[in-house]
Amino acid sequence: MVDAVQLLRELVEIESPTGDTGAMRDRVEAELRGLGARLERQGEHLRAELEGEGAPLLLLGHLDTVWARGTLARLPWRVEDGRAYGPGAFDMKAGLVVLLEAIRRAGTPRALRIFMTADEEVGSPTARPLLEHAAAGAAAALVVEPPDAAGNLKTARKGLGRFRLRVTGRAAHAGGNLADGASAIEELAHQIVRLHALTDLARGTSVHVGVVRGGTRENVVAAEAEGLIDARVARFADRETIEEALHSLTPVLRGTQLELTGRWTRPPLERSPGSSRLFAAAREHGRALGLELREAAAGGGSDGNLVGAVGVPVLDGLGAEGGGAHADDEHVIIASLDTRAELLARMLREPGV
Ligand SMILES: [Zn+2]
Repeated sequence: MVDAVQLLRELVEIESPTGDTGAMRDRVEAELRGLGARLERQGEHLRAELEGEGAPLLLLGHLDTVWARGTLARLPWRVEDGRAYGPGAFDMKAGLVVLLEAIRRAGTPRALRIFMTADEEVGSPTARPLLEHAAAGAAAALVVEPPDAAGNLKTARKGLGRFRLRVTGRAAHAGGNLADGASAIEELAHQIVRLHALTDLARGTSVHVGVVRGGTRENVVAAEAEGLIDARVARFADRETIEEALHSLTPVLRGTQLELTGRWTRPPLERSPGSSRLFAAAREHGRALGLELREAAAGGGSDGNLVGAVGVPVLDGLGAEGGGAHADDEHVIIASLDTRAELLARMLREPGV
């Protein structure tokens, strides 16, 4: 796997923050062309087809990372104790290496369709319709996002929404005429308590205000405040419940008003009979490779959520093992490049669907 490590290094050293992924796409394109794929650029995204039998298997990856250009100067590529460090190494340049190597090994007679998103790290806003289109007619989608910390695969992911609650109150001097004011900050505090009470972790639902802003000076009753809300659901049905709760918030304090904006950015990926079959096949292949794979649910979303929402069975987490996604110690366990490529190659030959 010397070549795979070399390729990983190359990909890590091509910085590819969302919105600046052209060089990365060119490099991946060259690899896919070498594998005999027919390529089609769709905006910043890349779609490729490998001819073969049957309904195609859809392979999903993303070209972008959360790391700004220039990060490499601070966090250069390095190998230590069997781990390869570098921005984007784990999420998901190693996944792309696994994907390419698996196709190379599989020699599959099965038709393959590959879609590489350029804006996954911001929720795939421009890729979404193209992804849905690519999913049409696919037998299953295999996603090379990282596995969980224990190396497990993912058949379920939470749906995600981003909302903003703006509160308007009435300014007044905090000393002279406090009673004339209506504090937007105090109102927001009431609302935050209500919002957080919507969280039901056992059900997989959470509502969390992660950012608050408001007020102008300590001696002025705040006329404005706002909270940014992260909402997550494990099930489709819970989206409505949460949305209804959000939209039915009413002010506690006289003289204040609420305005809620925002939307769901990713639907939940729910475990399905199709995804269970994919997982069962992966578990068998894993056993032959000495892996004891388990099925996991993830709190965050991926492009798998978008494809799952149009009815295609999804197995996610097929990338390389490692840790520190989106953090300075992001790294890949080098030995896993080989096992994960072999696992995915076997899935391409015998996906179980
Ligand atoms: Zn990712």
